[in-house]
Amino acid sequence: MNKYNAHTQGVVLSISDNIALVSDLLDAMLGELVFFANGSSGMVLNLLENNVGIILFAESRFIDPGDIVSKSGKIAQVPVGDGLLGRVVSALGEPLDDLGALSFSEYRDIEALAPSVMQRSSVDTPLLTGIKVIDGLIPIGRGQRELIIGDRQTGKTALAVDTILNQKGQNVYCVYVAIGQKNSSVVQIVNTLKKREALDYTTIVLSNASDLPARQYLAPYSGMAIAEYWLHQGKDVLIVFDDLSKHAIAYRTISLLLRRSPGREAYPGDVFYLHSRLLERAAKLNKENGGGSITALPIVETQSGDISAYIPTNVISITDGQLFLQTDLFNSGQRPAIDVGLSVSRVGSSAQYQAMKQVAGSLKIELANFKELQTFTQFGSDLDIVTKNIIEHGVKVLEVLKQYQYLNLSFADEVLELFASKNRTFRDVHPHDIARYCYEVRTLIKEKHPEIIEEINREKKLSDVLSKRIKTIMLRFSEEFIKEYVS
Ligand code: ATP
Ligand code: MG
Repeated sequence: MNKYNAHTQGVVLSISDNIALVSDLLDAMLGELVFFANGSSGMVLNLLENNVGIILFAESRFIDPGDIVSKSGKIAQVPVGDGLLGRVVSALGEPLDDLGALSFSEYRDIEALAPSVMQRSSVDTPLLTGIKVIDGLIPIGRGQRELIIGDRQTGKTALAVDTILNQKGQNVYCVYVAIGQKNSSVVQIVNTLKKREALDYTTIVLSNASDLPARQYLAPYSGMAIAEYWLHQGKDVLIVFDDLSKHAIAYRTISLLLRRSPGREAYPGDVFYLHSRLLERAAKLNKENGGGSITALPIVETQSGDISAYIPTNVISITDGQLFLQTDLFNSGQRPAIDVGLSVSRVGSSAQYQAMKQVAGSLKIELANFKELQTFTQFGSDLDIVTKNIIEHGVKVLEVLKQYQYLNLSFADEVLELFASKNRTFRDVHPHDIARYCYEVRTLIKEKHPEIIEEINREKKLSDVLSKRIKTIMLRFSEEFIKEYVS
């Protein structure tokens, strides 16, 4: 029989709730994989003077006090590589779909150091979402971290999924990490991606609500490791964490079971580090390091719009901006329900294409003016003509910014719709007809003047000549449109 080695082995002292306290294991590392005598595996999460706390990855009723535990010498790892595209895997990289064994290139540590400042470059390429209000007003760049935050059922997941769908043909790989969600909603997302041919460039990492907290805790780091493989190959990757509130709760459960002292809202003191070390790994690398990028869209759920709660404030301060979704906007039909006033993107605008800047540059101020004046209309007082114009136009701009789920627009289409808004070519169109107007005017340009679309796509900016042409076409169209609808 092998001699017991207290440096590499330990003895289970107690086990409950899938957390084992183990003696010895003197050389254990934080995050190290360990094996129990019965073959179960777990991960070291607490290094104390007298014992080591280990979280189990699977329910095990066959571990008893006195059992031997052995170090593996390795940090927990996941399989990574192009073979993961189109697959649904668990937090440990086990396949969960019915496509058989995983083909993968290598294993990567679940935890890794974030790229250093010297390895990074600034964000310079847009990550187009195909959603007008985002691409125009709160643009996201490749390598940016943009938080999607809002109450339950405000369209958070829809924004993320639409963004994944819009990466088709854009050379961006996607990773969707589902944390603590219902299986049925993830199945729905997988089916949507499959139906729209987006699964070919996407990996789903799934830890559902019934998974052990240990797996929910690991899932985002696993997803990040999968994304990092492509990052280091010079690819652009988009990763969605849906959502980090549930991740924090899983970590809180584990920490309380490990008897760490609870702090604010009963979260352990290092809950900030939980998310900062994850999101720091999203980056845009410089040319010498391959030029790849990981864009992260973490999602956080708020309670009654309270963005000053513990987890929301933490994640807001870690990310480069947030898309704030409001229930009352959602219920009033303003969807996507993004509150333009409270949403920001701190780096994305430097990556925004010139054409988009030209048409959307003044939009945010226009909307802010409008919001301020809108309150007046509620009193029904007599308004001067300037105020009236601002309000009338504001209502129409909000109509332009409405966009149904799954209806992503191409870059040129977005530019054309926002062009109409900026130049007020729909001045005499009724707000109810704005959506139809936008659709028809861009369809007309696409069909009758395809060279305009080509120029926008090629040059990514609007020359004076081009602007004049588009404006003339749109104004002429407006006249016909109004005639048709007034009669
Ligand atoms: P949860 O808090 O449950 O995760 P969520 O904030 O992720 O919810 P979603 O599931 O994305 O919200 O969306 C809620 C509902 O609103 C869904 O039925 C979705 O189809 C619908 N929805 C979302 N965005 C839009 C949109 N732009 N237009 C129309 N319907 C939308
Ligand atoms: Mg959701």
